Amino acid sequence: MKRTALLLFSLLVAAMPLAAADTWTAPSQSQIDAIYPQIEALYEKLHRNPELSLHEVKTAATIADQLRQLGFDVTAGVGGTGVVGVLKNGPGPTVMIRAELDALPILEKTGLPFASHVTTHNDQGEEVPVMHACGHDLHMSIGIGTATLLARNKGRWHGTFIYVGQLGEERGPGAAAMLKDGLFTRFPKPDYAIAVHDTANLPAGQVGFTSGYAASASDSVDVTIFGRGGHGAMPQDTIDPIVIAARTVVAWQTIVSREIDPRDTAIITVGSIHGGTKHNIIPDHVDLQLTVRSYKPEVRQHLLSAIERIADGEAQAAGADKKPAVKVSDSTDAVYNDPALAQRIAGVMRRTMGESNVIEQAPITASDDFAEYGRAGVPSLQFALGAVDPKKFAEAQKSGKTLPGPHSPFFAPDREPSLKTGILVETAAVLELLQKK
Ligand code: ZN
Ligand code: ZN
Repeated sequence: MKRTALLLFSLLVAAMPLAAADTWTAPSQSQIDAIYPQIEALYEKLHRNPELSLHEVKTAATIADQLRQLGFDVTAGVGGTGVVGVLKNGPGPTVMIRAELDALPILEKTGLPFASHVTTHNDQGEEVPVMHACGHDLHMSIGIGTATLLARNKGRWHGTFIYVGQLGEERGPGAAAMLKDGLFTRFPKPDYAIAVHDTANLPAGQVGFTSGYAASASDSVDVTIFGRGGHGAMPQDTIDPIVIAARTVVAWQTIVSREIDPRDTAIITVGSIHGGTKHNIIPDHVDLQLTVRSYKPEVRQHLLSAIERIADGEAQAAGADKKPAVKVSDSTDAVYNDPALAQRIAGVMRRTMGESNVIEQAPITASDDFAEYGRAGVPSLQFALGAVDPKKFAEAQKSGKTLPGPHSPFFAPDREPSLKTGILVETAAVLELLQKK
């Protein structure tokens, strides 16, 4: 195509996506506008009432109620507080969307009129503030928007649509708990799983996708290094675990720099180190907490075993009587976006939103237990939803400033365009997979 023709064509496509949406099985702007007030009200309600991971009781009830009103067959209490809504519409494929129910122990500082003032007690009994700082309220509301449009347009698709309100994403065990409680056996096993996550790396009105590995595997590692305690003025009578810990932390840095292929992604961060009580006492142990991130399973295995090997070696070099204790927990697999599904849905996004609003992105080093559905054998795609006011985004790009994103107390998605774009894209993606041929 010549440049002028291409330009004309692009302008035409940019101007018409919503008018021509019907032929592309995407909802029209007027359909989205019609449901927007109720979705916005739901979003504000969820935002005002956040709940911590594994305690999403009221949130689950709200989502279950919404789905019931739409005619879904709803089961609550799946894997804990998880909610499963099934909408059957004749023979055809089964598609699930995943929305997370949980919020974070963060004191909200957005100043929004519907900001959270919720405090609660965490599992340790400490009083903590709670905020939907990761945008899970946005994802739930978008999902209800998609569910509403599907329920109202049953003539335009066939098959089974499942809304999964998943507990405990921020702490990792939610997806696994729902699977263990029969998500793919008590309910129809999906042919595809779709999820959306908001981002401050794109302006509202744009979406991003990644083919293949999209979010990293994550492991928490607790290491205790044992020495022999004693008087700080008589080190010759002790085995100082603080010195061993210091050497171990430095030696761990060589795992990524010297042992892993430079083309592979690997991160080892020591986020916490605690030992001792006083200037003149050599303690008998030091506790360290690490986060480990990777994409490939073989890299992950290497990192975890090298952490233990080096901790052992340093303890042995110092003459410690006891091997360090190493415990791996909160493990999450890497999110792997099925490449064929990613390309298919990216095509839908481009047709629906215009080429320039769909950005192919590099994988991120955050983690998400959405990975579990792919691991359970369901081709999956998690895509990114721009959530920042486009004007602020452009200014930040110019000044090089970083905007508050997920997990920041200041993170406030640009509500209306984020919700509307999310509903448009998620519904279009589901309709693509459930379309009538
Ligand atoms: Zn989060
Ligand atoms: Zn999140």
